[in-house]
Amino acid sequence: MSVRDLRFDVDAVVLDIEGTTSATGFVVDVLYPYSRSRFGALLAERGDDPEVARALAQVRELTGDPQADATAVEKSLNAWLDEDRKATPLKTLQGIIWAEGFARGDLVSHFYDDVVPRLRAWHAAGVRLYVYSSGSVAAQRAWFTNSPEGDLTSLVSGLYDTENAGPKQEPQSYRRIAGSTGIAPDRLLFLSDRPGELDAARAAGWHAVGIRRPGEPYYEQGVGDHAQAGTFDEITITTSGSST
Ligand SMILES: [Mg+2]
Repeated sequence: MSVRDLRFDVDAVVLDIEGTTSATGFVVDVLYPYSRSRFGALLAERGDDPEVARALAQVRELTGDPQADATAVEKSLNAWLDEDRKATPLKTLQGIIWAEGFARGDLVSHFYDDVVPRLRAWHAAGVRLYVYSSGSVAAQRAWFTNSPEGDLTSLVSGLYDTENAGPKQEPQSYRRIAGSTGIAPDRLLFLSDRPGELDAARAAGWHAVGIRRPGEPYYEQGVGDHAQAGTFDEITITTSGSST
């Protein structure tokens, strides 16, 4: 059998989204243009909302221009979008826009075919599931609420992003998540397509598996010396004596 069989005895699996549970292309081809088309209206009409106002202030700080008006801020956001820069205020504002787009039914998220059945099986076996993505918590919630297979949020015990956990390539972020979940580092398994994230998780004492899906941006680069899987079906999780 060519399919790999990776076995882990852990209490929880922490999931990256882009390139791991879901196609990066969907985010870039569908969600980025959708947010780009709505930044202007959001800033113009809702600049006083606390979350929007805070993101506006963060953009002005990051660009070093405290006087930047809505047009200048929109320009910065679009430039970061073009560079695929994971700036926190960009992620915050996208999260708001996408949540509203999903709620309206304009958007439905994407999951690879192997992912949802595995998540359901792991959850049923008592494995806790968490998300750690550079997309904001609001965007993650919308993503799991509006999947092609319906609302998946009941499967997930917690959501982490660069704001509540920190940058994805720093071990300290993974220590923070472990502390927040109350799960020992060596009882946590991180799944991601990016070697730098896998390195950081491992440095924090976690298990880590690189997910390699053909066509994803990091596929050719590989995942260094980490264990790797082409799909979630190649990963067997055991917890508290149960196995699935
Ligand atoms: Mg990824």
